[in-house]
Amino acid sequence: MTTGKIGVTTENIFPVIKKFLYSDHEIFLRELVSNAVDATQKIRTLSSFGEFKGELGTLDVRVDIDKEKGTLTVTDRGIGMDKEDVDKYINQIAFSGAEEFLQKYKDNANNIIGHFGLGFYSAFMVSKKVEIRSLSYKEGAKGVLWTCDGSPEYSMEECDKSDRGTEITLYLDDDSKEFLEQARIDTLLKKYCRFLPVPVISGKKQEWKDGKMVDTDQDNVVNATEPLWTKKPADLKDEDYLKFYHELMPGMDDPMFWIHLNVDYPFTLTGILYFPKIKNEFDIRKDRIQLYSNQVYVTDQVEGVVPEFMTLMQGVIDSPDIPLNVSRSYLQADTAVKKISGYISKKVAEKLDSMFKSDRKAFEAKWDDIKVFIEYGMLTDEKFFEAARKFYLLKDVEGKYFTLEEYHTLVEGEQKDKDGHLVYLYATDKTAQHSFIQAAEAKGYSVLLLDGQLGTHIVGLLESKLEGISFVRVDSDTPERLIRKTEDKGSGLTANQTEVMTIIFKSQIPEVEKAQFVVGFDAISSEAAPATVTQNEFMRRMQEMAAMQPGMAFYGEMPANYSFTVNTDQPAVKTIIEETQKNVGDKADALLKQIAGINEEISKASQEAKEKNQSVPEMKEQNEKVASLRAELEKEVSDYASTLPKVKQIIDLALLQSGLLKGASLSEFIRRTASLL
Ligand code: ADP
Repeated sequence: MTTGKIGVTTENIFPVIKKFLYSDHEIFLRELVSNAVDATQKIRTLSSFGEFKGELGTLDVRVDIDKEKGTLTVTDRGIGMDKEDVDKYINQIAFSGAEEFLQKYKDNANNIIGHFGLGFYSAFMVSKKVEIRSLSYKEGAKGVLWTCDGSPEYSMEECDKSDRGTEITLYLDDDSKEFLEQARIDTLLKKYCRFLPVPVISGKKQEWKDGKMVDTDQDNVVNATEPLWTKKPADLKDEDYLKFYHELMPGMDDPMFWIHLNVDYPFTLTGILYFPKIKNEFDIRKDRIQLYSNQVYVTDQVEGVVPEFMTLMQGVIDSPDIPLNVSRSYLQADTAVKKISGYISKKVAEKLDSMFKSDRKAFEAKWDDIKVFIEYGMLTDEKFFEAARKFYLLKDVEGKYFTLEEYHTLVEGEQKDKDGHLVYLYATDKTAQHSFIQAAEAKGYSVLLLDGQLGTHIVGLLESKLEGISFVRVDSDTPERLIRKTEDKGSGLTANQTEVMTIIFKSQIPEVEKAQFVVGFDAISSEAAPATVTQNEFMRRMQEMAAMQPGMAFYGEMPANYSFTVNTDQPAVKTIIEETQKNVGDKADALLKQIAGINEEISKASQEAKEKNQSVPEMKEQNEKVASLRAELEKEVSDYASTLPKVKQIIDLALLQSGLLKGASLSEFIRRTASLL
């Protein structure tokens, strides 16, 4: 019997392992079972090359629990190890890198966790003692028994072992007794070993008997050794993909479609990605792609590893280039992993492009469901945006689809403004914006429907990428001014008339929660609506963007500014202007003249004072006079306005069109309309 010290000078390596990896203790099982599977695959390979001539026998890996002894044993019939192997692989290698590593990172425990491949030694996270019994495949090899109690001291001796392979027995710590429960082990094996390429057996198959589950005498194989992604796409049918999907993601509806990834250059990668149907934002969960390395589960936290937009997809990615034992931040920084991410993004774009090209009808039928993936991808991945230009679709309010190029051609003729800018009109809600859509269509414009979750963002993106194009929502201006083709005609009102008519309308606009109105006049046309309420595109977007920023929600609470545009060419409006002129015009003119006179006095006085370098006189009296004359004017005009039911009617119609007429104002409108009949 030999005893010795494991080849490491840093004596406190085990406490480090135990302490810092506490939350991930369970991975010891993955490490031991993967080692067993590796050893099994090695003997297979040696045998196929004729380097091992003996019987392979059954090659299962077993995980057995002995509650009485408090042990967990992982057994394989792989290549096994002799004394020299154990010395080389277990006693030396395991820590040769670790020592240097601890030196380098001794001040930062997280780096240790991230970097340090634990392998076999992770067994000490849960054990007070570990035994290795092994018999090498080599001819004439003798069995070896290695024991270590978690201090750097181990013992190694010859032992009787008749079966080729390795048996690793963990004497579990008192605080790790959970790993003596078959149910816990089953869960872990399901998580980490579900698709390992060698059968892994643990416990017995169960059956329902006399009202409870009981063990049968059949071994329970926990894994599928040839998962679907390892097979050739040509050999698989839709049913196979759907079946696999439901095994992977129980309780989900069928996915829309999938992509089978299969490359061996410039790196090896296989996998299947499914596009689920996303019905609402609650469906967006980001833990649905599993990463594997040679069929060993690594993680389902894939942010930064796959392109961000693909975290909306589900499925598996398997690449031997994905390192097993590293933290996520390390994984993200890994160059191989970065390449994988770019590659997957490209593959997804290619698949979408080929779906579009081969069957556009079917692609269009799926569009509303896959749009969110594509838009998310375009927003977060420059390269994907470039690829998606070819198959990104715009949908109009009639449900027709256009590529970006097609749409450009469609609207180029009609929708350029006087400065040559192309304007894309859009609606976000077909019902609420119905009359605006109609008015725009009546002018021969096309209206897009942008009703997806990412509408606002995608508008901003397209504007920045497509030159000379701006998006304008149909209700952001009067139909005539959505696309400004000529200079404004103006309102045809005198300055005094504008003052008076502003009071006429402003005084009659009811209180609307979270809304403020700026009254303006424009000679639009005799057929257009008498008044229109619109919200400036730029202002609305600012508000929407701000409301989405964390901590900026108060922005959404602030009143929105609306333009209330009165069409001075409309016959009813014309009549109101004339009547007002007749009834209060003289009075108003007189008041405005007085106001103007005093204002002139005020500005003259301040001008003179400035020239003489004196301080500007206060002119309190004059200012008060102006205020009282204004008040008189407002009272005079608004009293008159309140006798004009048509003003109220025009206002309410405009509010109604924009969905802003609610509650008491709406009831009042209905009552007044009835009485007008
Ligand atoms: P890694 O698996 O990353 O190489 P480990 O510490 O897990 O690191 O294992 C070290 C080495 O010990 C392995 O590379 C292998 O040569 C040997 N080994 C571990 N487990 C077994 C086993 N079950 N059968 C044969 N060899 C093993």
